[in-house]
Amino acid sequence: MNEFAVNRQTFDDVMVPVFSPAPFVPVRGRGSRVWDADGREYIDFTGGIAVTALGHAHPELVRVLREQGETLWHVSNAYTNEPVLRLAKRLEALTFADRAFFANSGAEANEAALKLARRAALERHGTDKIEIVSFAQSFHGRTLFTVSVGGQPKYAEGFGPVPAGIVHLPYNDIDAARRTIGPKTCAVIVEPIQGEGGVIPADPAFLRALREACDAHDALLIFDEVQTGVGRTGHLYAYMDTGVTPDILTSAKALGNGFPIGAMLTTSDIAAHFKVGVHGTTYGGNPLGAAIADKVIELISAPALLDGVKRRSATLCARLESIGQRFGLFKEIRGKGLLIGAELITGFEGRAKDFVNAAAKAGLMLLIAGPNVLRFAPSLVIDDAEFEEGLARLEKAIEEVVTAAAGAQAR
Ligand SMILES: *Cc1c(COP(=O)(O)O)cnc(C)c1O
Repeated sequence: MNEFAVNRQTFDDVMVPVFSPAPFVPVRGRGSRVWDADGREYIDFTGGIAVTALGHAHPELVRVLREQGETLWHVSNAYTNEPVLRLAKRLEALTFADRAFFANSGAEANEAALKLARRAALERHGTDKIEIVSFAQSFHGRTLFTVSVGGQPKYAEGFGPVPAGIVHLPYNDIDAARRTIGPKTCAVIVEPIQGEGGVIPADPAFLRALREACDAHDALLIFDEVQTGVGRTGHLYAYMDTGVTPDILTSAKALGNGFPIGAMLTTSDIAAHFKVGVHGTTYGGNPLGAAIADKVIELISAPALLDGVKRRSATLCARLESIGQRFGLFKEIRGKGLLIGAELITGFEGRAKDFVNAAAKAGLMLLIAGPNVLRFAPSLVIDDAEFEEGLARLEKAIEEVVTAAAGAQAR
């Protein structure tokens, strides 16, 4: 405790108003349960937006945090440190990549990826190869470069002039990609599943077509796995189940299970275009974050854990199908692993947020992905009892909204 008493109203009084947080303030979490300042308990189906993949206060992570916290937090990048080297070695062993750059967020990892792609194209091909191809509805972060590359114009409007040389194409449109990717293309950036854009999986054939077009024109293929990475789809990284290997992969969100860390992974040939001083960060790759991420990757890459994601995914999808049928509510249930979207039928268009509000009243933390999609991103290790309790609360919340809507229509 300190001398300031705070509550939800304090947010409106002292914070820059870019967010509109829920009416309750979470104060404590354990596994997939969270308690608010009034002592109310919630089941967490949000995982902090696909971040707390191992749940809250995971004992192993708490132990690593405490031990590293008592050992060394920060030395700057004028020195290297053992935790970051161990983390890089582990990622090298487990992925296509043999080089890593660490940052503090997904946006920063993508910023590094895009800058690296521009630099590599300049050095290999000269000043004309600058075009970055990305996709409608995609989300890559909120720096000016990443928000401009992202495919949701509402996030980039009002900050102009924006960086030049960015082209947006429809997602999953193979013909448009083949037509557009050419000699001027420096990089293509794609989410294997669009998370913020509505939980929309890429067709495997689309990803293969991007790979082929990039190879044909010596453009770099960047997979933004900030949301899909670190076990979320039942694979350590989603690319591993697509038959397509990117040139650069970005990771963040679950990588630190809530401790801010991001990573850009690539090959040594490409990494060679970032020379000393060309890019950098103060906090990126600090010992505290790296030690935690190393433990996260160690735990999540275990085959038994990834099998558990697939098992829970099957349960979640089956339950959503039956809830959807009972209320005639869902147009489509899609996604992979524990990144699942349930799109509302036309009659409930634009009302995803109402379900989130009703869920909170029923003791369930839930996400949306755009106005029409309920998004499920629970902990990858949520235990069966918590999972069942969360699904029961979901059904109760849905019943409430649907019944109220029927009542409103009858009146
Ligand atoms: C969340 C997200 C980002 C941005 O990550 P931040 O840590 O918020 O900067 C980028 N790309 C994707 C796919 C994301 O889901």
